Amino acid sequence: MPSPRSIAKFNRIILKLSGEALAGQDGDPISPQILDGLARQVKEVVAMRVQVGVVIGGGNIFRGLSGEGKGVDRTTGDYMGMLATVINGMALQNSLERAGVPTRVMTAIEMKNVAEPFIRRRAVRHMEKGIVVIFVGGTGNPYFSTDTAAALRASEMNAEVIMKATKVDGVYDSDPMKNPKAKKFDRVSFSDALRLRLKVMDSTAFSLCMDNNVPILVFNLFRKGNIRDAVAGKKVGTLITN
Ligand code: UDP
Repeated sequence: MPSPRSIAKFNRIILKLSGEALAGQDGDPISPQILDGLARQVKEVVAMRVQVGVVIGGGNIFRGLSGEGKGVDRTTGDYMGMLATVINGMALQNSLERAGVPTRVMTAIEMKNVAEPFIRRRAVRHMEKGIVVIFVGGTGNPYFSTDTAAALRASEMNAEVIMKATKVDGVYDSDPMKNPKAKKFDRVSFSDALRLRLKVMDSTAFSLCMDNNVPILVFNLFRKGNIRDAVAGKKVGTLITN
């Protein structure tokens, strides 16, 4: 029987969850069932002794860009979006703890009463001890995205991969929701992804990954066991790598 560690391909991963991944079909911005399902998936990976950091988005609650059209100025809206990620992170922490997974929330925007400030060395220590770290508050700066926060945290935490959870199975040459003949890539280089204008992440996040050599695995979050299978090195989603 192989040890849990020996079946895992990665030692340390950053899982990027969009805020919308937490939303329920009934319009609930944070669905307890989805959170519990996610917590179970993360627990399986932690049991494989993989160090897990989660970067969570806030798009289910607020996005700076969409606020702009409704009279909220961009910078204020961006801070509102960053605060939304804190709400999501706390909800995820609650579900992970109920599933018995030790967790810390670390925020890029200081708020001592609810979360630890992000301190890189402390985050590394937590992860080495098998504690799941949920990174919230994005990068702490307006005009960025939580994909960029994932690229940043993955680079500074020396994570081997960013696993970007989506609603589709990976990266396609055209929109699979609109084109039934769309072709999925199993593996694609950063330069080909740029050349073919594949939508993987926003350009800031993408460049950061490319420049720092952080592979991105785009996969379907809603297929049960996908996170575990991806961590075990099974053919899941699309890997973008140098
Ligand atoms: N945001 C920001 N700086 C960051 C990260 C996020 O200003 O470093 C704001 C931005 O307004 C963004 C919102 O927070 O629209 C929510 O993040 P994002 O859109 O990345 O969430 P997701 O799409 O992953 O749910």
